[in-house]
Amino acid sequence: MMTRDPVCGAEVNEESAVGDEVQFWGMPYYFCSSKCREAFQREPQKYVEGESEEELSYDPRMFLGDM
Ligand SMILES: [Zn+2]
Repeated sequence: MMTRDPVCGAEVNEESAVGDEVQFWGMPYYFCSSKCREAFQREPQKYVEGESEEELSYDPRMFLGDM
């Protein structure tokens, strides 16, 4: 199964990912290299928010979230 490296955006095969996955907010993340993994571990929120920003702008539910 392919997933995305949140740091550089490369597609990563979970089964051949470098090192262990990193758990963040209950989700496993996989990386193309140990450099990307270390960068993510340093500032996971930076990469998770950056990646989901685009999708959230298309999701009308986000506007109901603060009520
Ligand atoms: Zn990467």
